[in-house]
Amino acid sequence: MKKWNMIIDVAECTNCNLCTLAAMDEYVGNDPPCMKAAPKGVINKRRDGIVIIDPEKAKGQRQLVDACPYGHIWWNEELQLPQAWPFDAHLLDRGWQQTRGQQSCPTGAMRAVEVEDDEMARLAREQNLEVLKPELSTRPRVYYRNLWRYSKCFIGGSVAEEKQGVVECIEGASVQLVKDGASVAVTTTDNFGDFKFDRLDEGSGSYSVQIFSGGRSKVLQVTLGTSTNLGEIKL
Ligand code: SF4
Repeated sequence: MKKWNMIIDVAECTNCNLCTLAAMDEYVGNDPPCMKAAPKGVINKRRDGIVIIDPEKAKGQRQLVDACPYGHIWWNEELQLPQAWPFDAHLLDRGWQQTRGQQSCPTGAMRAVEVEDDEMARLAREQNLEVLKPELSTRPRVYYRNLWRYSKCFIGGSVAEEKQGVVECIEGASVQLVKDGASVAVTTTDNFGDFKFDRLDEGSGSYSVQIFSGGRSKVLQVTLGTSTNLGEIKL
């Protein structure tokens, strides 16, 4: 049977949150009929893969908020109800081919696809799609393209020089990233003097950034926690 999946391209997402607002708007003062129609049990997975929290059986069960390893169940204090986004099932059931969030996305970063599991596995393989926390083997149906942009870190900066009191960008400076005495990557600065080393592991420790241009050089030490912008570096 075909099931619903969501593909989100992190590279196209500008974090404008329009999809979140659209989804909130969709559910204001509105108990989706699909939730009421859910079969027995507090949380049910429909045959099309959509997970539904029963709004009556789940009343008062705050512990469900902590049960979700993805942090995607929220507590509604007013209704005393744990709630999760039900993939706009009430709209899909009416024949919609997209969710409200997808409809409101200005960049096309998100796309709902209804395919067989084999077909989704093929898409994930061919398009390098990833899920969050694959180690949990929960087989989530939200897939991400370019997830490294969210899960990895960068070290960046801008190389400049001062000439007669004027600061100018240095284009074409060679920048090398070194860890434990070995070269990790080499790049050159662009016409703004900028450089960036991406896809580094968060908290991966000490690096040195070695910059060379026109016979001058500079070495900076960086301890990488989260992404680090070294700012303007004057040679
Ligand atoms: S609407 Fe699109 S671009 Fe904006 S946050 Fe959502 S997915 Fe990202």
